[in-house]
Amino acid sequence: MNEIEKIKRLYEMLSPCYLCPLRCGVERLKRESGICNSGIVTKISAFTLYKGEEPPLSGRDGSGTIFFSNCNLKCVYCQNFQFSQIGNGRFVSVKELTRIMLSLQEKGASNINLVTPTHYFPPIVASLRLAKSNGLTLPIILNTIGYEDVKVLNLLEGYIDIYLPDFRYIDDQKAIKYSQAPDYVNITTAAIKEMLKQVPEVKFRPNGTMSRGVIIRILLFPDNLQDLRLTLRHIAKEFGKDVYISLMSQYVPVYRAKEFPEISRKLSREEMLEAIKILREEGFKNGWVQYD
Ligand code: SF4
Repeated sequence: MNEIEKIKRLYEMLSPCYLCPLRCGVERLKRESGICNSGIVTKISAFTLYKGEEPPLSGRDGSGTIFFSNCNLKCVYCQNFQFSQIGNGRFVSVKELTRIMLSLQEKGASNINLVTPTHYFPPIVASLRLAKSNGLTLPIILNTIGYEDVKVLNLLEGYIDIYLPDFRYIDDQKAIKYSQAPDYVNITTAAIKEMLKQVPEVKFRPNGTMSRGVIIRILLFPDNLQDLRLTLRHIAKEFGKDVYISLMSQYVPVYRAKEFPEISRKLSREEMLEAIKILREEGFKNGWVQYD
């Protein structure tokens, strides 16, 4: 399938919409909207040079990060809830999104970092194609909770250089309770397998920034170290222990988290140290630990 056919196929997947594993089946090309509350035009909250990612993604001047409005998942603790759940932002055409990508490159971004873009894949891929034909050479990051449809990922092959999926839950009941994401473990495992198939090797540029690869992020929740161990064992079994892991401690109980007492506090320092110990005990050597 050539690039035009891939983009056409992605747009076809909007009506009925099967762009993400929730498979709403609504006719987005006829102005219906599904769980993500999104139409066919991309909506963004902001774009910036962001220095808070893993060091090889931030680089010296920052990751060229684009935050998309709305989301297919409903995480009750979402730190970006103002735009992911409430939908703040502005609409941008394919051409404007292209200009934004090129402007981030001009400002010295290490990459283009697409933050939870799943529900806008068709226009985003159209923008990427246009941007590349107009001189965009930076690595492209797909920054996602990991809950992706393998058939859709197939259509992204060649456009994404760095996959940055979360492995957020090892317990499907928690995935439903906190994110309304049914069958999370199976779907995310299959998605990460496809990502690793497309980009099996991690590569770095001479300046230390990453040019290709997959990093699996694990967000640490309070009182959840048992799940961390189970998650790491699952990752080891499915993808091997050489995969790059990013352990993240920056959980804060925002948005609706206070409705759930068990996740209504930040992580303690002791929990963080114990998490690092578990990571070592389970034999993972590649990756990073992100402190708050
Ligand atoms: S992208 Fe949105 S409308 Fe389409 S299946 Fe997912 S949640 Fe539903």
